[in-house]
Amino acid sequence: MRIDAALRKDLIRAVAETIIAHAGELTELDQAVGDGDHGLNMRRGFAAVLAEVDAIAAQPPPQALHSVGMTLVTKVGGASGPLFGTLFMRLGAALPEEPTRAEAIEALAAAIEAVKARGKSDVGAKTMLDVLAPVLAALRAGGDPRAAADAAAEATRPMRALRGRASFLGERSIGHVDPGARSAALIVGAVCGVLGHG
Ligand code: ADP
Ligand code: MG
Repeated sequence: MRIDAALRKDLIRAVAETIIAHAGELTELDQAVGDGDHGLNMRRGFAAVLAEVDAIAAQPPPQALHSVGMTLVTKVGGASGPLFGTLFMRLGAALPEEPTRAEAIEALAAAIEAVKARGKSDVGAKTMLDVLAPVLAALRAGGDPRAAADAAAEATRPMRALRGRASFLGERSIGHVDPGARSAALIVGAVCGVLGHG
């Protein structure tokens, strides 16, 4: 899989523009189960990424992913900034410059493990991990990652939050889609839109 500079730019732009376009929706989701800053947090982070898109896309894939991750860590804030930052940085560290499909999938697996470690969390706690893990499973099974991401984000609705701010709500976190899970699904959808899956 050759990810040249033009493709890198398309991928970064698609992800950043999708998150920015959905900032209002992400904020509404976080108003229901958190403190209502998730859309603003993510928009700030991805606007900073977009501002640097040419410089970031000029870097080889591992370094470009690291740069995206570092920007998110420093600009997003909240619980989600370090976690999405970790996802991108670890993906960059695990990805060869011209990965095979299998290597790309295993890099994602390593990145998800890093998010689990960083957040002391796992699947089932109503977080971004409840989207990322099913996407990985779909990729491994040759399924459609975008459909898996959308279904998995929706499937966080009946879950009770066990991690993050939403966990303070206990039972009252039930009945709402997790904001970070929705962000993860938006990122996956944007990547798939560019790469042509689903
Ligand atoms: P904050 O909760 O600090 O206001 P955000 O609103 O930006 O931060 O992000 C909230 C999202 O972060 C949640 O919807 C959830 O998906 C994710 N999140 C929170 N804590 C964790 C964790 N320990 N592991 C994985 N994801 C988490
Ligand atoms: Mg919040």
